[in-house]
Amino acid sequence: MRFAGQGWAVMTAEDLGRYDVIVVGAGVGGLCVAIEAAAVGARVLVAEKTERVGGMLHISSGEFSGAGTRRQAARGIEDDPERHWQEVMRLSHGRADPDLTWRTVRAQGETVDWLDGLGFDFHPETPGLVHGHEVYSVPRTYWGVNQGDSLLRVLERELARWTPEQVRVLTGTRVTGAVQDGAGRVAGITAVRDGTHEIAAHAATVVLATGGYDAEPGLRNRFLPPGCEDAMIACLDHATGDGLRLAEGLGAAVSGNGIFLPVMGLIPDPGRPGFAVDYREAFIELAPAYRTPHEIWVNRAGERFVPEDGTSPERRERALLEQPGLAMHIVWDEATAREAEPLIRNGAGGWTRERFLAEQESGRWIVTAPTPEELAVRLGVDPAGLAATLRRYNEAVRAGHDPDQGRTTLPMTIDSPPYYGITSTAASLLSRDGLQVTGDLAVVDRDGRPIPGLYAVGEVLGNDVFAGDNYVGGMSVTPAMTLGRALGRALAAEAS
Ligand SMILES: Cc1cc2nc3c(=O)[nH]c(=O)nc-3n(C[C@H](O)[C@H](O)[C@H](O)COP(=O)(O)OP(=O)(O)OC[C@H]3O[C@@H](n4cnc5c(N)ncnc54)[C@H](O)[C@@H]3O)c2cc1C
Repeated sequence: MRFAGQGWAVMTAEDLGRYDVIVVGAGVGGLCVAIEAAAVGARVLVAEKTERVGGMLHISSGEFSGAGTRRQAARGIEDDPERHWQEVMRLSHGRADPDLTWRTVRAQGETVDWLDGLGFDFHPETPGLVHGHEVYSVPRTYWGVNQGDSLLRVLERELARWTPEQVRVLTGTRVTGAVQDGAGRVAGITAVRDGTHEIAAHAATVVLATGGYDAEPGLRNRFLPPGCEDAMIACLDHATGDGLRLAEGLGAAVSGNGIFLPVMGLIPDPGRPGFAVDYREAFIELAPAYRTPHEIWVNRAGERFVPEDGTSPERRERALLEQPGLAMHIVWDEATAREAEPLIRNGAGGWTRERFLAEQESGRWIVTAPTPEELAVRLGVDPAGLAATLRRYNEAVRAGHDPDQGRTTLPMTIDSPPYYGITSTAASLLSRDGLQVTGDLAVVDRDGRPIPGLYAVGEVLGNDVFAGDNYVGGMSVTPAMTLGRALGRALAAEAS
């Protein structure tokens, strides 16, 4: 036996014995592998480095997609996996992996029905169209009443059906390396429990379901295109790319497509530079389908760079990428604040007008000033630029025509002091690159050969596999569930 990972080591660790399948990481992908492997009779060990299962589901919107579902049929929505696949390929500009995408999309409807059968608490508006990303042509996106938590509740219930002999879940257990047999086959893991206690466990197959790397800026910036290093981090701290690094140490091939499309509307956290305020607390609603824009958005030169009422999220995301520091500043005035719906929201509907007006005065995220020039200074924007832009915008409102950006929603001038502004920076919340795998999710080496015994599922594959250079509705959580379930069944069948 060899132990690879944090260097070659002589084994002094406690041996936890042998399993059919070891799953590294208890996010949505890992949980689905474990649940289905157990259902086919496999003995499973799940190693999770944090103190709780669920991974990114604790913060994720948890929107998932699938075609040809019972819920669609009940609402008279005609849809099928082929159509879904065509749309994923179109929205990803042909850059999603066609084979892996088909393998997941063809079964995503069944995943939705599976959740339905497990009593998932579907939001009553689902299946729906979601305007936070480019919209599908038919309602095929679903979400729970409690977003990602709704998914976690169902998966936890399923997990609880199995005894610890069938599925042993070790939280507080950080996997540090792989055990390899004499032939180089991955045959287990080494890990550290509770920070100090070294352990090892053995299995016919090891599945890396460790999620992404976005919370580790050094690793993330290796994959981001140059100039995007200012992007804020908007995911949970566990996403440090452990699985990717572990597999790379075993010779695994890693994609490197240089794709980045920011998430917009997140607020820099003054208490944690480089990180965004948790979007469950607050985000800026930019989608005109959900809120009529009354403000202008400017860059550091004080210039508008996109029509604020544009319906294409991708267009505004790409426009933000072109702005210095990936930053935008949203500007409004006293009259706008009283007229418009609150600019800040969260998924729980926790932002009333009163709360928003109080936030304006608190100075936490929103700055205020008596003149556009002084506001610009406080925002770090060119004062003359902002003042000139506001003059031109107000003329456009009066004329009912915006020659600069072609905006057609021009509700009111912005000229009643005090003025307000908030900065938002492009954010990254999901990893675009990751481990390269076969159609059966075996991790491949740099020569394209499967590394025996090693599999991967979920965000550790990189989201470009399922979304190319865009965001595509539900195409991270749903492939993690769908391919995770299929992988669990296949590995359990192999072991039996
Ligand atoms: C704010 C936000 C909103 C989102 N909304 C959506 C959405 O609506 N729809 C969608 O499809 N996607 C969405 N995503 C993305 C999606 O939630 C994630 O891609 C998905 O949940 C990842 O699942 P995973 O199982 O691959 O990884 P994770 O959920 O990240 O789980 C990985 C697990 O592995 C553990 N782990 C890591 N390293 C080790 C180690 N060395 N040893 C042991 N355990 C380890 C981690 O602690 C973690 O529990 C969103 C993401 C964010 C941040």
